[in-house]
Amino acid sequence: MSRHILVVAELREGVLRQVSLEAVAAARLLAGASGTVSALLAGPPDSHGQALLAAGADRVVHTPERDDIGPAHTERALQAAAEAVGQLRPDAIVLGHTALGKDIAPRLAARLNAGQIADVIAIEPDGESFAFTRPIYAGKAFEKRMFTETPWVVTIRPNNFPPLARAGAASADVAAGEAALLATAGKPDLRTVVRGVMKRAAGKTDLAEAKVIVSGGRGVRGADGFKPLAELAEALNGAVGASRGACDAGYCDYSLQIGQTGKVVTPELYIACGISGAIQHVAGMSGSRVIVAINKDPEAPIFKIADYGIVGDLFEVVPLLTEEIRRLPA
Ligand code: FAD
Repeated sequence: MSRHILVVAELREGVLRQVSLEAVAAARLLAGASGTVSALLAGPPDSHGQALLAAGADRVVHTPERDDIGPAHTERALQAAAEAVGQLRPDAIVLGHTALGKDIAPRLAARLNAGQIADVIAIEPDGESFAFTRPIYAGKAFEKRMFTETPWVVTIRPNNFPPLARAGAASADVAAGEAALLATAGKPDLRTVVRGVMKRAAGKTDLAEAKVIVSGGRGVRGADGFKPLAELAEALNGAVGASRGACDAGYCDYSLQIGQTGKVVTPELYIACGISGAIQHVAGMSGSRVIVAINKDPEAPIFKIADYGIVGDLFEVVPLLTEEIRRLPA
């Protein structure tokens, strides 16, 4: 069965989010071999549209303004998405399970009187339709859900759908896709406007999308204790995270907190340094592909879920690791 799927793509500080390419991969699966994947992107045509086409989208629909779709402009993003849905009439809409996706997906579903399945980590064919897997109870269990009617609204968790490199996507195909642009019409009718956004200092790499995370807990003993972790993260081109214990102790900002009441992450490599492995922390990182734990207590619960465990002092182990990684050929 072929379907038409719309991906709502997202830019973060002018850069296309990785999860948007992953959403295209999920959309391709839902569309079927002869289906169509459209992507909605803020602002005039540019290289981001080319990236979406190269990742498997058949066409890109642009909004007039660059800041039409962004976390600070939920209403505006919602209106842009609703307008694209009105014009394109897709069978399903796929978004990243990001701050923006979480904000607009349920509103979009309500407007369309559609069902929504959030935080999807896997999609499997099931008869004529699909089963969508999502974690529940803070990752302690998984449920499979199906839609009974179209349209579908789906948000996908970052790092679970590898982006596609459309084999043989000739530049001519890409150009043809970009040529089939639609422009959303008119100024949105907004009930609120954003007067300003105060940015908190955060790492270069977004935690939710990072492929490698080096996390620190109360064992780092202070803000300075995060320095060797930041160096290891940099050597691995990753991001720094933290347990709530470290955040509560004032060693780092709460924006780094991973866990039940923090961010949920699924990197390829998670290195937990001086973190005991409380259930609330594990809820946010147990989906990581490979978990390495560094803890001086051999009985620490984190070792029960770790693929590799190092019993030792993080202040000795982490710099040694960084040194070895820096020695590896680039
Ligand atoms: P600790 O439990 O104190 O562990 C520190 C670890 O560091 C110990 O295992 C120790 O052996 C090790 N260590 C000490 N020194 C060194 C060293 N030099 N080298 C190596 N290892 C060393 N927690 C979260 O993380 N995220 C959440 O989202 C979250 N949500 C919560 C929600 C609720 C409702 C509640 C009640 C709690 C929540 N918590 C959360 C808190 C959670 O229960 C734990 O208290 C917290 O995760 C502990 O943080 P920690 O592992 O850094 O500290």
